[in-house]
Amino acid sequence: MPAKQILKTRIIVGMEIHVQLRTQTKMFCGCKLSFDAAPNSYVCPVCLGHPGSLPVINKLALRFAMLAGLAMNCKIASYTKWDRKNYFYPDLPKNYQVSQYDLPICGEGYFDLPSDTPPQRIRIRRAHLEEDAGKNIHDSGNHTQVDLNRAGTPLLEIVTEPDIHSAQDAYAFCTELHRLVTYIGISDANMQMGQMRFEPNVNVEITHSEGVSKTPIAEIKNLNSFRAVKNAIEYEAQRQIAAWEEDSEYVIGKANNENRGWNDDRGMTEFQRTKEAAQDYRYLPDPDLVPVTISETMINEIRAELPELPLPRRLRFINKLTLSPKDAGTILDQRTTADFFEEAIKAGGPTDVLCKQIINIWLGLAGDRQSDISNLSVSAAKVAELASITDRGDINKSAAKQIAEAMLTDEKSPSELAKQLGLIQVKDTAATQAWVQEAIDNNAQAVQDTIGNPKKAKAAMGFLRGQVMRISAGQADPKLVGELIEKLLMPKSE
Ligand code: ZN
Ligand code: MN
Repeated sequence: MPAKQILKTRIIVGMEIHVQLRTQTKMFCGCKLSFDAAPNSYVCPVCLGHPGSLPVINKLALRFAMLAGLAMNCKIASYTKWDRKNYFYPDLPKNYQVSQYDLPICGEGYFDLPSDTPPQRIRIRRAHLEEDAGKNIHDSGNHTQVDLNRAGTPLLEIVTEPDIHSAQDAYAFCTELHRLVTYIGISDANMQMGQMRFEPNVNVEITHSEGVSKTPIAEIKNLNSFRAVKNAIEYEAQRQIAAWEEDSEYVIGKANNENRGWNDDRGMTEFQRTKEAAQDYRYLPDPDLVPVTISETMINEIRAELPELPLPRRLRFINKLTLSPKDAGTILDQRTTADFFEEAIKAGGPTDVLCKQIINIWLGLAGDRQSDISNLSVSAAKVAELASITDRGDINKSAAKQIAEAMLTDEKSPSELAKQLGLIQVKDTAATQAWVQEAIDNNAQAVQDTIGNPKKAKAAMGFLRGQVMRISAGQADPKLVGELIEKLLMPKSE
């Protein structure tokens, strides 16, 4: 039989995301959350699963879950309960994980991704609370060690509908969700520390000469970077298409769904095991934990705590503050930056210069110090003033950078620093003309290129301008310099 001809393929992705909540203590006991503490130093009878110990619900984790649910437009359950999910690895010594099965705290919702018109809507199926497992450590000979510091850490598991149809969109979804959970403050979502983990469920709808087939679903476990999400989905979709071309029985219902891992070094997914159906987990209601009832009042109270979310804020920045979509994205990337930007606007800074200086100067200075803008110990008012004196033309753009650097260690105002550093822009044409003349006299080659070599003219002109700025020790007005170079070298021929 001749091979079926593939006409079209469509990737189908639903995401499961585990988000570690930013509580002080674990989900069901008073043990502190820790990251690199000595193994088993933050444990107690509850998280060690000792018989007779009784769990107590972490109220802050409940609030965080509701906050996330409301931010994702989910229905918040008025009654939610806890279930034991059968688990038989040593990193959870109780032999079950406390999770939520049929009555999760957050029900249906949706999350819109920024895109040109209209925003792309990803439906949320549910979000529930559960506890994390500990860690099995395999680095001491032929036995395994267990560290239970992480066991019992509160996680919010968010599950989407299979509404994502490309690796790129999955990447965008994960970055936006990361932004959302950090914006609303429910998680630090530090990826290196495993505080946000992604599990895409991937399959492919193949339209071919004899109809439409769907490959079995592969769940790619425990991805901890956005790049891994994108690469793993791209690889997995191609693998499934190739497997179907090899064997047209490789379809959902006939072949097994499976769990796969991502091997970043080899750039491929690897088979782990065929997937359990829900009955294999043998969920049962946890008799030690009381169900939670949530009142409308409590939901409203938590709704009132929600800050302006990234998407509406982005639209406001673009439409009201007239930022470009790209600049809006950069400013909004971290909430601290966006908050700082708005504070500086309130302090009287001109929006467009502020936006440019935050992106080109302040974020760079913060990045160099592995810090964020609010930790640079420079007030929003001073940042606003620097933007104002740049906007007025008292200083030029490169002087602004120098002054900003000085502001990190000097309490003086930007204007005072500009004077002290001799960076007040000289608008005197005669003085500027003298500097331009000096640059022209000393750079014959650049002068020739500017006049007579169309290929090099632009670069040569830029070079001359740079020389003038150097000679003037940064005090010349770049705009005036440009005009004068043109006037001297290229007199208008009539
Ligand atoms: Zn404990
Ligand atoms: Mn889970």
